[in-house]
Amino acid sequence: MGTQRSKPSCTIVAIFLAFCCFVSSSKAKLESLQHAPKADGSLSFLVVGDWGRKGAYNQSLVAFQMGVIGEKLDVDFVISTGDNFYDNGLTGVFDPSFEESFTKIYTAPSLQKKWYNVLGNHDYRGNAKAQISHVLRYRDNRWVCFRSYTLNSENVDFFFVDTTPFVDKYFIEDKGHNYDWRGILPRKRYISNLLKDVDLALRQSTATWKVVIGHHTIKSIGHHGDTQELLIHFLPLLKANNVDLYINGHDHCLEHISSLDSSVQFLTSGGGSKAWRGDTKQSEGDEMKFYYDGQGFMSVHISQTQLRISFFDVFGNAIHKWNTCKFDSCDM
Ligand SMILES: [Zn+2]
Repeated sequence: MGTQRSKPSCTIVAIFLAFCCFVSSSKAKLESLQHAPKADGSLSFLVVGDWGRKGAYNQSLVAFQMGVIGEKLDVDFVISTGDNFYDNGLTGVFDPSFEESFTKIYTAPSLQKKWYNVLGNHDYRGNAKAQISHVLRYRDNRWVCFRSYTLNSENVDFFFVDTTPFVDKYFIEDKGHNYDWRGILPRKRYISNLLKDVDLALRQSTATWKVVIGHHTIKSIGHHGDTQELLIHFLPLLKANNVDLYINGHDHCLEHISSLDSSVQFLTSGGGSKAWRGDTKQSEGDEMKFYYDGQGFMSVHISQTQLRISFFDVFGNAIHKWNTCKFDSCDM
């Protein structure tokens, strides 16, 4: 009798444990955030990268135009593609560069929204942990920064990815620069876990639009060119999961390249301050739509069926526009 009675309860326990295992193993480990869209479900945001120079190299002019365009488009938030503080990131959570390069520069009313940031290689040359510390959020409540995280806004899922640890040269001899690898080592395990987490999050996404943000280029004809490590390890994952946009900085330019064998648009918005490098690289195999070797930023507007991007120069002129749509209701 006793044995018979224990059988159903054992089965229930086993099912419960299996369910728990399934739930915990299927849940992505990335920090996950929400940002409500406008009442009609649409969303507008600006993208700027490679900016923190205490206003120098036209950072203040770009910031001013971001304020003007941000007002016109009624932007919901701003995305930063990294290299937030030059040359060597922040020294700590109380580094005054945070105010000098961020709070006191992006002062326009339209930019008093959340800033979703990723880290760039220059941020890793300082105290990288400081930029992801909650202390910065107290100093300026616009600041949002984790190493890698997701952001859902109904029709759109954003995936912010920490790309610096992928790049081999930072781990070999890189002109004597020091990098803050706390929390990254052992590197192989960090990268393989990150790829698994991002892949899982992408596969679980049911949003109409998928937008991935990282600091480093995947495809670019700018100074740094393509990032081979991301081409090999990261791009296949974006293609397999039908990602719409990959947005990066690192090259100090504005750029749009269309993938010829997938849905991915490669967008570089790295013109937040120093630019005009004057050199280009080869990037083969995809369609070059636009390249501007100068300062500026990008805007994105997304509704349930349509996506529009525009690039702006330091004078606020729209210098490249592109749009696409989904579903039968497209009427562009
Ligand atoms: Zn960079």
